[in-house]
Amino acid sequence: MSDLTTDALSGIGMTSQRTRDRMVDRLRAQGIQNAAVLRIMAATPRHLFVDEALATRAYEDTALPIGFGQTLSQPYVVARMTELLLEAGTPSSVLEIGTGSGYQAAVLAQLVPMVYTVERIGALAQRARHLLEGVGFRNIRFKLDDGHWGWREQGPYDAILLTAAPDEVPESLLQQLAPGGRLLAPVGSDERQRLVMVTREEKVFVHRTLDAVSFVPMRSGREF
Ligand code: SAH
Repeated sequence: MSDLTTDALSGIGMTSQRTRDRMVDRLRAQGIQNAAVLRIMAATPRHLFVDEALATRAYEDTALPIGFGQTLSQPYVVARMTELLLEAGTPSSVLEIGTGSGYQAAVLAQLVPMVYTVERIGALAQRARHLLEGVGFRNIRFKLDDGHWGWREQGPYDAILLTAAPDEVPESLLQQLAPGGRLLAPVGSDERQRLVMVTREEKVFVHRTLDAVSFVPMRSGREF
């Protein structure tokens, strides 16, 4: 696990600590209970993950554009997905599909030992890697690829998180889930999707449908 309280990141972030505390108060009021998730979101400078022009809006309860038609999810959705992912205990590694700004990966990397993250847009993958490695994360691995195929060499994973919405959960991702592991994905073909949690039980995959959510669609292939 990375501890950002001792490095440069928290120093830069201190300027907006009060704004972040207010964001966390809101998350608590919205029902987020996991103390570790709340603590990490209070310590992670979300404004570094968006364009400077949007920095003042970084702690509002809203999704924000990150370029290339993609968006960073609103704080509540990041908190909710992270909380669900950790509900059954701390996964030893997490596979994230859709690195985007890198914010979700940064939150995860402070809660779990190892994060693998896959992004299909080269410029986004590069920017996130530069930012996260630059502030000292050592437990995030990046891959530029179509995340439909996951990252088989590093699996199986106790937890898999999709932050872009497929029409259906890709079979190859299910195959990379460790026994007892859980996968969370926004699933659906239009702008409104349902959050689906799939757990891998002894011989079967159990699907549960949770909240209504709105994510960008999962696309095929790579872009540079
Ligand atoms: N987790 C991100 C959210 C980014 S939005 C964050 O914290 O900022 C969703 C991201 O998924 C976009 O960057 C988009 O390019 C990416 N994406 C969409 N389809 C994908 C695919 N097939 N493989 C990998 N990434 C994909």
